[in-house]
Amino acid sequence: MSEERLLDVKNLRTSFLISSGVVSAVRGIDIHVDRGEFLGVVGESGCGKSVSMLSVMRLLEDNALMKADSLTFDGTDLMSYSSKEMRRIQGNDIGMIFQDPMTSLNPLYTIGNQIMEPLRIHKKMSGAEARRRAAEMLDLVGISSPEQRLKQYPHEFSGGMRQRAMIAIAMCCNPKLLIADEPTTALDVTIQAQILELMKDMKEKFATATVLITHDLGVIASTCTRVVVMYGGLVMESGMAEDIFYRPGHPYTIGLLNSISGIDGAEKKKLVPIPGSPPDLMNPPAGCPFMARCDYAMRICASSHPVLTSLENGHSVACWLTHSFASGMRARLEAR
Ligand code: SF4
Repeated sequence: MSEERLLDVKNLRTSFLISSGVVSAVRGIDIHVDRGEFLGVVGESGCGKSVSMLSVMRLLEDNALMKADSLTFDGTDLMSYSSKEMRRIQGNDIGMIFQDPMTSLNPLYTIGNQIMEPLRIHKKMSGAEARRRAAEMLDLVGISSPEQRLKQYPHEFSGGMRQRAMIAIAMCCNPKLLIADEPTTALDVTIQAQILELMKDMKEKFATATVLITHDLGVIASTCTRVVVMYGGLVMESGMAEDIFYRPGHPYTIGLLNSISGIDGAEKKKLVPIPGSPPDLMNPPAGCPFMARCDYAMRICASSHPVLTSLENGHSVACWLTHSFASGMRARLEAR
């Protein structure tokens, strides 16, 4: 494995046992994160993006079953780790930010206590050291009068300030990887932009690899260097952000792009929603999960799901159209 690779997961499968059956939420994906990179994982709700990252963190509910051929983080095989060993990594080497800070922050403890706790547990800091570091972190995330703010409770912070405090908690132990699950969805538009700017800033300051999970390609456009597009528990496309935005290869990615307003200040265009709804993952289709909504569907799409086909520059697409195109190109090149 390359020195650059921080996280590498092969053939990840996660399912949930519920009263009416088994939901196959993640159905065999490979995903990696390089050191210091900003990766976006995008898709509609229920596509498996959050579950895949919760699986990596081993933060799944008791009714979940997670399997993978390998799961390596910073050169260590996490599949062999016990829950106790995983707790040493969670909040220390891997930080996490969730959508709604009000449900992630404990309303009974001051913001100061909540930043100090991981510092005391993971970094074994004294109370005074942890308090000093907590104030520094609040200052770094742009909260003024940090010494006073440390004494306040979550309900005394605005929504944007609470998310800034969550970032301070997630970053205080200087993690190697930060996973942010829809961190701006619960915020209004102006605050969203500030939080994304802050996340980019923190990534630069701490050289932390960051995974941003979102349903919003617009959020990805302003932050991420590489993108993974998920649908129906599978990866549909992945590649550098400019390839995904300007040379998308999968009909689902094209549909997502058509359903957002212009990126990077591009001209406003008519928004076209993707008709239909995602597949039922209690009875996942044998073929391409996007088939019922795809304008280009062919007979083969019903019976067999295409594997990811590599194009260039690390760009891969799981679609029979690309597969046939790439095989034809390869055959022509080989015949020369
Ligand atoms: Fe559409 Fe077939 Fe490609 Fe799926 S594999 S996206 S159904 S053309």
